[in-house]
Amino acid sequence: MNAPQAPLDDARLSALREAVGAAHVLHGQQLDASLQARHLRDWRGRYQGQCLAIVSPGSTEETQHIVRLCAAWGWPIVPQGGNTSLVGGSVPDGSGQQVLLHLGRLNKVRHLDAHNFTLTVEAGCTLDHTRQHAADAGMLYPLSLASGGQCTIGGTLATNAGGTQVLRYGTARELCLGLEVVTASGACWSELSGLRKNNTGYDLRDLFIGSEGTLGIITAATLKLFPAPQGCGTALLSCPDAQSAVALLSLARQTLDAGLVAFEAIESQALQLVQQHLPHMARAWPSASATTGPASPWLILMEHQGPQDQTHIDDELGRLLAHAQAKGLLTEAIMAHTVAQRQAMWQLRESIPLAEKTEGLMVKHDIGLPTSAIASWLAQCGTALRARWPDCRIVCFGHLGDGNLHYNVQPPPTLRSGPPWARFESDVNDIVFDLVQAHGGTISAEHGIGALRREALAARAPAEALPLMRAIKQALDPACLLNPGRLLA
Ligand code: FAD
Repeated sequence: MNAPQAPLDDARLSALREAVGAAHVLHGQQLDASLQARHLRDWRGRYQGQCLAIVSPGSTEETQHIVRLCAAWGWPIVPQGGNTSLVGGSVPDGSGQQVLLHLGRLNKVRHLDAHNFTLTVEAGCTLDHTRQHAADAGMLYPLSLASGGQCTIGGTLATNAGGTQVLRYGTARELCLGLEVVTASGACWSELSGLRKNNTGYDLRDLFIGSEGTLGIITAATLKLFPAPQGCGTALLSCPDAQSAVALLSLARQTLDAGLVAFEAIESQALQLVQQHLPHMARAWPSASATTGPASPWLILMEHQGPQDQTHIDDELGRLLAHAQAKGLLTEAIMAHTVAQRQAMWQLRESIPLAEKTEGLMVKHDIGLPTSAIASWLAQCGTALRARWPDCRIVCFGHLGDGNLHYNVQPPPTLRSGPPWARFESDVNDIVFDLVQAHGGTISAEHGIGALRREALAARAPAEALPLMRAIKQALDPACLLNPGRLLA
């Protein structure tokens, strides 16, 4: 049993202010509507928290200082980067007893080592800022998310984010060579060496990556850089069905190998939502219209990049598309010939989450499957859901190249609030997750567990996994002060 929490009195407030500066400790009446919307409500608007205070340290040392104070006073800490978590991992609970540790002021670029192809940045640097810094040096940091302007390097590592280029470059974990972490006791473990090989005991870096703020606070990271590609070919195409889309993926991988960087799927209902709510974002697919819909149920956004020049890359992509069309794997294809056309294609894909948010409540999933199982899973899952709720709407899109689908189910109008909604959500989750597990998949491919999938993880993780995870948590955070109530139930 934890000791009772000390109250936030004048002496403790002064100590916090001394540690980080008075402007960086916000509490009580200072937490106006705009701060609450920014820091205490999650991106999807599903979780609304309260907190003792929002504290924003400006350095690793200040972070250590704050963690030590919180540990001494028994104050739970919720680390927050850009607050773009899609599983309610980054906002405090409703108790008003947790400290929100906002890491946005840790935003310095520490070092770019061009010969080692590494970039060391602080945790609060946004993803887009980090990518731009690499680009300015003629290099590429390839992690790519639609939330890049807001999400931070610390958040992407704490969630092991995926995004649109995992097929070629891997997830945030595979792009990280070193970390600096403030532990639950306020110590600092730092290994920002940038080594590509280092077999000296347990891999602490990999333990902290994906731990969603429950094992330590990431304050800096050394990231892998790559040569910036010279040519980039992008195409938007339609496939007759999911089976053809998966066959096209295999063909593209065999033909383009590492040159295939993105293979994103947009099923017709996802396209229709963008057309309906954000029509200016849907211009890239001219044969579609709000009334007629697409010619085929699956759109694919494919990207081919490499060190060769643009003409070579376009030729390779064009040959692949012609071959695929001859095999009946696609019905229509458009290649981007200008930067603006390419951007329009990506806008269409990346505006789906916002279009869904505008549409309203849906039961959302972030599932992962072996790509070979996707077509069969989609058929079985669609049949099972429509048998139970003929009027439900299935909105599916995502990173088909990685076997990662966002599979979202909108309830019929009668089930959109109160107990019927809660029952619908739980029953849909059971159907989706049972079939995912039967097909050898995962219930969370890239968004993590947070608050949303805690119970599902507890119910569905392999029996041996949870005791091991709890033992790790106990060893690193015995008082359970770091992001309690997230990840582990
Ligand atoms: P937050 O949301 O602030 O926090 C996320 C989790 O990490 C929380 O548990 C928090 O406590 C913890 N945390 C944050 N910073 C630290 C730190 N420094 N140290 C320790 N713990 C920390 N995700 C994908 O994987 N792929 C996508 O394609 C993708 N697309 C998205 C598109 C949109 C429009 C949106 C809104 C979100 C998307 N996401 C995607 C989800 C989200 O952007 C990622 O999970 C991102 O990694 C979160 O970063 P953040 O800085 O916002 O972290």
